[in-house]
Amino acid sequence: MPMDYRNDTVHPMLRRAHDLSQLSLDDAQRGADGLGRDSYGLCKVLESDGAGGLTDFTMGGHITKEAWSLNPYAGCLHACAYCYVPDTIHAERKRWGSYVVVKRDLPTRLARAVAKAEKAGLKHTTYLSTATDPYQPAEAEHRITRKCLEILARRDWPVEVLTRSPLVLRDLDLFTQFSQIRVGLSVPTLDDQVRRVLEPAAPAIPARLRALRKLSDSGISTFANYTPACPPTTHDADAVARTFLDAGAQWVNSKGLDRKQTVLAPLWERLRGGPWEDLTKFFASNDRQAAWRAELDTAFRKLGLVLSRPFFNPPFEWVTAPLPEPTRQLTLGELPILPMAMPATVPPRRAPQPAAPVRRVGLPPIARGP
Ligand code: SF4
Repeated sequence: MPMDYRNDTVHPMLRRAHDLSQLSLDDAQRGADGLGRDSYGLCKVLESDGAGGLTDFTMGGHITKEAWSLNPYAGCLHACAYCYVPDTIHAERKRWGSYVVVKRDLPTRLARAVAKAEKAGLKHTTYLSTATDPYQPAEAEHRITRKCLEILARRDWPVEVLTRSPLVLRDLDLFTQFSQIRVGLSVPTLDDQVRRVLEPAAPAIPARLRALRKLSDSGISTFANYTPACPPTTHDADAVARTFLDAGAQWVNSKGLDRKQTVLAPLWERLRGGPWEDLTKFFASNDRQAAWRAELDTAFRKLGLVLSRPFFNPPFEWVTAPLPEPTRQLTLGELPILPMAMPATVPPRRAPQPAAPVRRVGLPPIARGP
């Protein structure tokens, strides 16, 4: 059992972090990106050496031993009210969103870790990221995520990327070099007014949907993560499904809110007295979440778009169903689909599988009717 720190001043990684050694952005870079340190807002940016690397990926509370997590930063400027990370890394929730630590030497460490893992037959699906957003504003300047992806691309590791930021489009040139890659955008609500309250520092929803479209149009396996699925404020279930379909999502993952003990209080603080106060009650109620989920299931099925339940997709090595032809969206006139073939629980450990054939497709999202 990991020690429960919950106090950032004694947290082993956060305690080691120190002020940035590079104190000012170079003007050329600021001009090129249109993003400078101003975009950090009130967030404090620190750096740390000797932190991070490939760590065991956990899925559904189980350490898989067959996949890796890679987190280029500690902390996250996006400051989502329902973030599960303070619980998993045992950090202070009230400070979450106020700092980000740049893991400055992570690419060097990763290059070593990848070579070692390959020697040991442990070239597994790597998730960026599970405890931070790999494309939060600090990435525009520090490019730790990009440098890590360059290392993984050179050795063609299977990779899943999940972010809330259209900055992910900057790395399209790298994504197209992987044989196996999926890129997802987290979109927990389609109402940007609600987003401003729940994820005040994260990019706007329309920008995320446009990024999805661009990724999908570029031939990348693209999914949306609609978690926690906010109830209808501007969009009913049919409109939610239609919006994701139009945005080019090839499948959608969606889970309800399951960190009620630690997350409901911060949610209430942000929503109390505003027009969306009822959202806290919605997330507190399993029955209301289940009813909304049933509406979503029906709406997605009507459009032939897969709505699945995991937060992260299973590692590529676990997807045993036949791979589909390069994904395309079904039209309204086509048959509804059945749920995709994915392990409902963590399967038993298996011997490492031989590398999959070179095909840039993701999960098997579409199973046709007879
Ligand atoms: S983007 Fe992800 S890691 Fe960052 S605050 Fe939101 S949920 Fe947490």
